[in-house]
Amino acid sequence: MIEVYNTLSRRKEQLIPAEPGRVRMYVCGPTTYNYIHLGNARTFVLFDTIRRYLEYCGFKVILVQNFTDVDDKIIKRAAEEGTAPHALALKYTEAYYEDADRLNILRADVHPRVSEHIEEIISLIESLVAKGFAYAAGGDAYFSVRRYPDYGKLSGRSPDEMLAGARVEPGENKRDPLDFALWKAAKPGEPKWPSPWGEGRPGWHIECSAMALKYLGADFDIHGGGADLVFPHHENEIAQSEAATGKPFARYWLHNGFITVRQEKMSKSIGNVFLVREVLERYPAPAVRLFLLGTHYRSPLDYAPEYLEAAVRGVERLKNCFGLLTEAIARATPGGDAGDILADSLSGLDAEFRAAMDDDFNSARALACYFDLVREVNTVLHAVPLPSRKVLEQAMDLFSAFNHVLGIFPEKEGKPSFEKTAGDDDFAARLLDLIIAVRQEARLRKDWAVADQIREGLKEIGVVLEDTPEGVRWKKV
Ligand SMILES: [Zn+2]
Repeated sequence: MIEVYNTLSRRKEQLIPAEPGRVRMYVCGPTTYNYIHLGNARTFVLFDTIRRYLEYCGFKVILVQNFTDVDDKIIKRAAEEGTAPHALALKYTEAYYEDADRLNILRADVHPRVSEHIEEIISLIESLVAKGFAYAAGGDAYFSVRRYPDYGKLSGRSPDEMLAGARVEPGENKRDPLDFALWKAAKPGEPKWPSPWGEGRPGWHIECSAMALKYLGADFDIHGGGADLVFPHHENEIAQSEAATGKPFARYWLHNGFITVRQEKMSKSIGNVFLVREVLERYPAPAVRLFLLGTHYRSPLDYAPEYLEAAVRGVERLKNCFGLLTEAIARATPGGDAGDILADSLSGLDAEFRAAMDDDFNSARALACYFDLVREVNTVLHAVPLPSRKVLEQAMDLFSAFNHVLGIFPEKEGKPSFEKTAGDDDFAARLLDLIIAVRQEARLRKDWAVADQIREGLKEIGVVLEDTPEGVRWKKV
């Protein structure tokens, strides 16, 4: 039985998909005006892991994660960079895929883009206008919040509380400060599409309703995103969708907590926002993923170098265990005596791992099971006699299954694969260039001791330097 904490009901509930055996999920994707930061990555790694686990449990999962490629922030940034909003959005959409691939985030089943769903968005707004939940004003269209009595049910805010923070911005034509834009009239130079209310572009919230309804239907199962999206974004999504369809919209609302940096919230104004690609320059991707899953998703996650370094050591332990296990399987005999103890703990560990993930996707506890497995395996590998090949292979299967669910290492033929990614090679190449440049300077100073120390040190780790007419080259041997 899988239990999830539902923001809508404010309690843990049993996850029962609307259709037996099939889970339909929608996750709010990135706004493509910049590279994704670590907070974004936490959301995408989480829902990727949830999807992997549900599939491990035998569910068929349909995951939709959008790109917000039409947005104020994109328009502003494009103007700053002197490029077209469309070109900027494309650049950062590609960048998302690069970062996601390195973090081993699998592709969603559909990655819809706002710019390709204008028609669906317009017809959803039209139906809201027809039903009296929305109105046109001065080329804009707005959702009439007070017409929808359940407004506030997700965030738990009352209309009066919400009113305290609501206001009418200059240039807005809304009747009530609580109302929000569904369609915005085009300003000069902005991306625009024709609509019944004049040329313009969609507001932010309506896009997710339109795309979720198109690909998943009204009563899909899980809607996810960062906790910062609960209000107003998800509150508005519910209001629009339920007003338009007359049916409940998304049954389980899951929200992940913030990332803090030394206990302080990550924010642009403090200047402590870490982009995924900056972090990946410093730490290997499996360690970053391990770090992101090492805390329960609803708790804040604190970022500090020592936590990432601990994750690097964790990844090394996993890798070493895999190497030892592979080698032990090769030399084990089909029979053996010490196998029973390991066989028993394997089934116990699988049950514990599932129990952890069943409990609101507690990846921190699931990771602890993974490391328990490593400890058990390391212990029996030193035992005489060695467990039988069959039991060792079962241990390998479990090791691979845990990895598959948590997505720490990429896979090859169902097993973890430790081949270097292109990014890692780049990083190593840049480091080597730096080391070689330092050695060249030492030679210029006639500091032969340092130059030789570097050459010998590199040779010990399998890198040989060659003097060529174009300068010093290195090669791996
Ligand atoms: Zn959304």
